[in-house]
Amino acid sequence: MELINRQYCLQGIPVTDLCKQFGTPLYVYDASKIEQQVKHMQQAFEQMPVQIKYALKALNNQAILQLMKRLGVGLDAVSIQEVELGLKAGFEPHEILFTPNSVGFEEIKQAVDYGVVVNIDNISILEQFGHTYGSDVPCCIRLNPHIMAGGHHKISTGHIDSKFGISILQMRHLQRVIQTYAIRVNGLHMHTGSDILDAEVFLQGARILFDIAREFPALDFIDFGSGFKVAYKEGDVVTDLETLAQRLKAEYRAFSKEYGKEVEIWFEPGKYLVSEAGYLLVKANVVKTTPATVFVGVNSGLNHLIRPMMYDAYHEIVNASNTEGAKRIYTVVGYICETDTFGWDRQLHEVREGDILVILNAGAYGFTMSSNYNARPRPAEVLLYKGKPYLIRKAESLDDLLRNQLPMPWEEADRAAKQTTVKEK
Ligand SMILES: *Cc1c(COP(=O)(O)O)cnc(C)c1O
Repeated sequence: MELINRQYCLQGIPVTDLCKQFGTPLYVYDASKIEQQVKHMQQAFEQMPVQIKYALKALNNQAILQLMKRLGVGLDAVSIQEVELGLKAGFEPHEILFTPNSVGFEEIKQAVDYGVVVNIDNISILEQFGHTYGSDVPCCIRLNPHIMAGGHHKISTGHIDSKFGISILQMRHLQRVIQTYAIRVNGLHMHTGSDILDAEVFLQGARILFDIAREFPALDFIDFGSGFKVAYKEGDVVTDLETLAQRLKAEYRAFSKEYGKEVEIWFEPGKYLVSEAGYLLVKANVVKTTPATVFVGVNSGLNHLIRPMMYDAYHEIVNASNTEGAKRIYTVVGYICETDTFGWDRQLHEVREGDILVILNAGAYGFTMSSNYNARPRPAEVLLYKGKPYLIRKAESLDDLLRNQLPMPWEEADRAAKQTTVKEK
């Protein structure tokens, strides 16, 4: 977002114009920023055979998935429905990695039927997999390297208490199952959590995986998951991809030499590719002074962007309707009947009722984690592509909230109840 003639603009279009055209609240995604992030990653790792599998749980609109496909990116899907969204968007099955957890074997079978790459994260499922497919269908194994990573306890997944992956302490058991059924393991995987601060933690996990990979002779790829961090506020540490790539390359070279083959390296970024491309545009409904603070109440809430309340995430907020006025301190809150705060003690250019506020970094885990709480419809989504806005999802309406509800046949039910009572007598 840039200031042009004192107006915040996205791809040259004033944010306030987008609100006039599409209404608020509104999710807006900047395709050029997504492309920039993809290119940055592709370039940083270009000296290794790297494949990017976008974790679509971050943002899954069909247009976004199609954009990823155009940029040469595959998908990481965590549910069979995400797999189906990927196929619908035009991905080939082999471009999709299916990384579920706590799903029944039926869902794994469905994924095999679709022909996607299956990533198995527990031994009991692996046994069923071996029993059903033997050596016919290869699979990837999700390992848990037990390293503490991730910016928040709710998003770190590699530690010893985590439900994710097969523990590296269970290698002997794992190998027994693989040998018993002659399972073809074509990939190893780890995902130690979101918001990994530094390259060192990442490399620690990578070394463990390279080490274990020696025991798996038929690998096509090793998947290092994600955790790439983006800046949420000024001064935030971000993952330095170039340094990471340099250091990983050294480890990779050594491994490949010993392994006798150059396996592919896969990453599964979600947040890194789409977070900064997304903006939630909201309208200030009320400005309310209390003994403690000045609240700005906006026409959105944790039903549309839950990260501040769920993860204590910091999202920058700016006033797009007043870029010059004196700065004052506000607490920006949503309209949900819960404590519903987007930002505490923020310095914003004076906010007047009706002003448009922009919540930044809303591309990842914004819309996909949204709900209809308080019977609020979800907002529309707009994609900015080559200087023009495209509506890629309509805002919901009351009809959408009622769509799957069925009328309760009260009278019939009462009659049925009466008959039962008579029979019982
Ligand atoms: C959520 C998730 C990702 C993406 O994490 P980000 O922090 O958004 O990059 C990647 N892989 C798996 C298995 C995930 O569950």
